[in-house]
Amino acid sequence: MAKKLWKKPSVIVINIGKCKYCQAEMVNTESFVAFYGGEKAHYDCMKKDDFKKLIEKEKQWQKEKDCTQTSMQKEKESKLVQVNE
Ligand SMILES: [Zn+2]
Repeated sequence: MAKKLWKKPSVIVINIGKCKYCQAEMVNTESFVAFYGGEKAHYDCMKKDDFKKLIEKEKQWQKEKDCTQTSMQKEKESKLVQVNE
């Protein structure tokens, strides 16, 4: 009788679907994250995206700050004008 040579792999690799960001097929042995709603992504891809968002947020914040400063400056100027009148 032939012996069974097949060994049960210690790690079962399962395809878990496409990455939300890079569209690559992922397996459960990679680090991945699952989003609410069933979307999945590589942990690294999510990190990169988070970083991108953070930079965009920072830029946005910088813009808003500049805008506020400009409007404050304008307010000051208009007040000065009023004083001069
Ligand atoms: Zn990815």
